[in-house]
Amino acid sequence: MKITDVRAHHISIPYDAGVASFRQGAAAITALDMVIVEVATDAGLTGWGDAFAYVCPRTTRSAVEEMIAPQARGLEVPDAAGIPAVMEQIQRNLHLFGRYGITMFAISGLDIALWDLAAKIKGLPLHRLLGESRRTAIPAYASLLRIGSPDNIAAECRKALALGYGAIKLHETTAPAVFAARAALGSDIPLMVDMNCPLTAEQAIAFAKTCRDAQPAFLEEPVWPPEDFVALAEVRSKGGLAIAAGENACTEYQFRQMMSAGAVSHAQPSVIKVGGITEFLKVASLADQLGVRIAPHSPYFGPGLLATLHLLALRDDGLVEMFYLKREACLWSGRADADASGHVAVPIGPGLGFEPDHSVMERYRVA
Ligand SMILES: [Mg+2]
Repeated sequence: MKITDVRAHHISIPYDAGVASFRQGAAAITALDMVIVEVATDAGLTGWGDAFAYVCPRTTRSAVEEMIAPQARGLEVPDAAGIPAVMEQIQRNLHLFGRYGITMFAISGLDIALWDLAAKIKGLPLHRLLGESRRTAIPAYASLLRIGSPDNIAAECRKALALGYGAIKLHETTAPAVFAARAALGSDIPLMVDMNCPLTAEQAIAFAKTCRDAQPAFLEEPVWPPEDFVALAEVRSKGGLAIAAGENACTEYQFRQMMSAGAVSHAQPSVIKVGGITEFLKVASLADQLGVRIAPHSPYFGPGLLATLHLLALRDDGLVEMFYLKREACLWSGRADADASGHVAVPIGPGLGFEPDHSVMERYRVA
């Protein structure tokens, strides 16, 4: 079976996040922009992947079309054992464009699609192709967007609890925000705090100490720059809180540097950024060797979310990150959402488990 084509689809689904938002400069981001990678074969089977796009969908799409498609067209479809070698060759061929960023996001998209195909060819759900299934549903945490006002944060936390979520993550940078969430949640609900890299090590240590009484399960990306693993290790050892990072790291190679430096208690590979399922598996195996926990980054709803569910099904613990917002449409007809008990079912169909809804793709396609 040969790969006949690799196409990239830019899909933009509007969402409503209520009092919360992420911003690009002065403007609030109001849609989920995805780049869905379609790998077509001469046998009529299709694999689906996902390349991180966020606010650069056209750039990611171009990277898939210009850099990745020519590498993959005409190749034999690899089986599970063959995918790592194919992906390593593509990484080698493209290394001059950088080993982090758009290139790796585009590579991730192809990799996920190849795993989807390999599992479909075997007639197995991806997690069964990869190993033993440990869980049929994954507990989710509500990943709140940036809110700011402590009162609004408390209200949103209570709403998320009422929807069934059993854990919450904030994207906030102030102690009052953290304490407002803790007060709203009570003492038993895990609360994580994602800072998105604003502080020096010294500031981050002080912030961690200030927040300690609110008992965050981890502090995510407290320091700038994200690749300063020495600073992160210092915050971890002196701040007294667990530290999570990794959405801004690519490949097992960089995660090895991060984990060897003692920078993190929780490694956060993002399957649509890190280099796909192949690199995610290597990161997870290394984390297990080094006693680091895996807390995947997955604030997205495309094939990358399905891939994350399969990867978490192989593990005894670890929550799935669910972006807390109301989107106008779903590629999976609502089948990959948190249920009333705050769990997301692991798909059991072949490959990633579901085919994207073509009517949704056509309706929200950006030409
Ligand atoms: Mg984050």
